[in-house]
Amino acid sequence: MFKRVLLKLSGEFLAGESGFGISPDTTAQLARLITGALEGTGVELAVVIGGGNLWRGTRNGKGMDAATADYIGMLGTVMNAMALQDAMESAGQPTRVMTAIQMHAVAEPYIRRRAMRHLEKGRVVIFGGGNGAPFFTTDTTSTLRALEIGADVVLMAKNKVDGVYDSDPQKNPAAKRFDTLSHMDVVEQRLEVMDVTAITLCMDKGLPIVVFDIFQEGNLRRLFTGERVGTLIQS
Ligand code: UDP
Repeated sequence: MFKRVLLKLSGEFLAGESGFGISPDTTAQLARLITGALEGTGVELAVVIGGGNLWRGTRNGKGMDAATADYIGMLGTVMNAMALQDAMESAGQPTRVMTAIQMHAVAEPYIRRRAMRHLEKGRVVIFGGGNGAPFFTTDTTSTLRALEIGADVVLMAKNKVDGVYDSDPQKNPAAKRFDTLSHMDVVEQRLEVMDVTAITLCMDKGLPIVVFDIFQEGNLRRLFTGERVGTLIQS
């Protein structure tokens, strides 16, 4: 049973059919899913949200200065964090957004000890703005924040993929799903879990990861109540 968890959400989970931008309806559905799963479990939840639905570094900022393109991406994650906060609070869940890039008018600055205090009080803390540093992704933010706040696990939420496979299950019907893996397996076999910087940090610090399908009915609740779901990666 986990006491404190870090949930990594892709920015794309907030986009509607188009795959771009923020859909209030989609965001509300996701917020209800998370809030419902959390209810009554006593689990302390921190969330890192990505920004891929709005902007992805130099992939969108072709020809731009790479650091500037990444800063734009980080600002995108703050927009997502605010949208998710709004939806979670509408669903009845007290929430705080903390940003790595200070913007006092919209959110609290990230202060580790304050984040931990919010969690102890039952508030969901959403970390926006990534690490506040370019050349990283929100996968590294998940790992970093999880370690800082003493989370038991990083839950890597996926859509339509219920764990880690040896090849793409959408292209190869014979793809094999792993129940458990070591961090080293993920690195050596270049399995798609999180980027290399993030996975090596998890390996270094012995931080477990669960890769699971968040949209499969009951999965998140099962994880919060200590059941095994998806693929568990640990050393
Ligand atoms: N980003 C960054 N530093 C960070 C986190 C994010 O520069 O610590 C930027 C980077 O440009 C990235 C973008 O923000 O492409 C959006 O984050 P990410 O791609 O991780 O979002 P996701 O794919 O999870 O939606």
